[in-house]
Amino acid sequence: MAKHIFVTGGVVSSLGKGITCASMAMLLERRGLKVRLQKFDPYLNVDPGTMNPAQHGEVYVLDDGTETDLDLGHYERFTNAELDRHSNYTSGRIYQTIINKERHGDYLGQTIQVIPHVTDEIKRCIHMMAKPETDIVITEIGGTVGDIEGLPFLEAIRQFALDVGKHNCLYVHLTLVPYLKAAQELKTKPTQHSVGMLRQIGIQPDILICRTERDLSDDMRKKIGLFCNIENRAVIAEKDRDFSVYEVPVSLHEKKLDELIIEKFGLTQFSQPPNLDDWMKMLAKLKNPTHEANIAVVGKYMETHDAYKSIYESLMHAGIANSTRVRITKVDAEDLEDDHGAENILNGMDGILVPGGFGDRGIEGKIQAVRYARENNIPFFGVCLGMQCATIEFARNVLGYKDASSTEFTGDTRSPVICMMSEQEKVENLGGTMRLGQYPTELLLGSKAYEAYGTNLIHERHRHRYEFNNNFRAEFSEKGFILSGLSPDGKLVEVVELKNHPWFVAVQYHPEFKSKPTQAHPLFREFVRASRDRRRLQASAVAEALTNGTNKEAKPLSDQRTASYSC
Ligand code: GLN
Repeated sequence: MAKHIFVTGGVVSSLGKGITCASMAMLLERRGLKVRLQKFDPYLNVDPGTMNPAQHGEVYVLDDGTETDLDLGHYERFTNAELDRHSNYTSGRIYQTIINKERHGDYLGQTIQVIPHVTDEIKRCIHMMAKPETDIVITEIGGTVGDIEGLPFLEAIRQFALDVGKHNCLYVHLTLVPYLKAAQELKTKPTQHSVGMLRQIGIQPDILICRTERDLSDDMRKKIGLFCNIENRAVIAEKDRDFSVYEVPVSLHEKKLDELIIEKFGLTQFSQPPNLDDWMKMLAKLKNPTHEANIAVVGKYMETHDAYKSIYESLMHAGIANSTRVRITKVDAEDLEDDHGAENILNGMDGILVPGGFGDRGIEGKIQAVRYARENNIPFFGVCLGMQCATIEFARNVLGYKDASSTEFTGDTRSPVICMMSEQEKVENLGGTMRLGQYPTELLLGSKAYEAYGTNLIHERHRHRYEFNNNFRAEFSEKGFILSGLSPDGKLVEVVELKNHPWFVAVQYHPEFKSKPTQAHPLFREFVRASRDRRRLQASAVAEALTNGTNKEAKPLSDQRTASYSC
């Protein structure tokens, strides 16, 4: 029977529960256990698909098309666990199921209540995670203990141990131990209160993970343990990592978290320590890059790092694969809409990436970014909306269709180079449906995409409504806009490239959902390689000009505009 670990958070939000769960899963997986991960989000939206990325961060998409919370991205980057539609439930989805059943008459006239109906439904969702081959299910409860919305979930996980036996469950609580500058002390009181609140509900945490800026002394851990009724060795400090979240599993392993879990569950056959060799190599490469590349990400939610989380992470992975420090400059697309905006702002960039998005804000700026990359031979990577912008730019500036657009932005354009399939084929009810999840693509032999993947059949995740308009295929192809990836039935354009350009690839899907730190996504890897190579070439040209005195204008690259964000 599967063992269950429930992870709650206390004191404040944004403590990194997702990373902690992912790290724990990674350590257990590397001990040979089959681990599955699940997150409950207590908000009332049925899924995060409709939520604003500026508020909630990116919508992370799974193979099966489920639109999920971005924490599931951490789960996939740290582990090989398979995620599916049971891996993320919101209160909204739980209530939707219950209300549908009620309308259907399934409750036979009973009064529907939080206890037992909502809690039973939550428990059913937890049970669904445990397949016959599953050893451990880790369930993360979103939000903070004390939130009104979270109560049904806490009640359900309390009952869960009664149903399956306490020896099959562990409660892990993640809290904050803040450092007060004025008192020059770490403070344990918020943690005591948070655990106190859990105990009132009937949950006694077995393991306490304390996020802190400074190391916890043994005395401090003893004190926390005493007040929170937790054995000393199960009070684990998780000190802030200055460098990278990918260090967290290593530090939790050093603090013996995985050993403790194995022991508490009595899983003695898994007492061999996990093999972290490849992970340690990856960290060493991350810390000691030998090259640099400045990459501009041109989007519209630039103040919210989480809005393009997987894009930034994938660039970092590609940097690791190329021993390159990737410096990311977050460019607000609207700033490129002024005269010479792209020339002024993108000057000095070694690569330009336009990520996915919805709606017309910033579109013209993104198109300017594409133009700048195309005209100046700067490596360009377009993702989903980024590919659509690349198509529109080419139609306007190379094919001469001045009004080219997507019907998402301009319903009445005479050159709808991007539109819905239903508009192309005059089919009625396809409209409005989103293409979600994994689909196959066949790549053209010899294309940049083919070279990157090293194979011609790939599977990638989608989340979009609009497509390349097939009525324009011939004209684009004739002028050097290569349609290098198509759906196997040949109907949908998935990948495009430019013929006479060092590296210009744009894809209709979302490769960022399949990149891992130890295994960079092939397209991100090649994009960063091309950007790095451009920088190296430019640096040597500048050095040569400076030595020969041939170019008085030449400035060392470091004097050029530098980037604001470094992975
Ligand atoms: N808005 C575009 C579409 O729906 C692109 C979506 C995206 O970038 N994820 O087709």
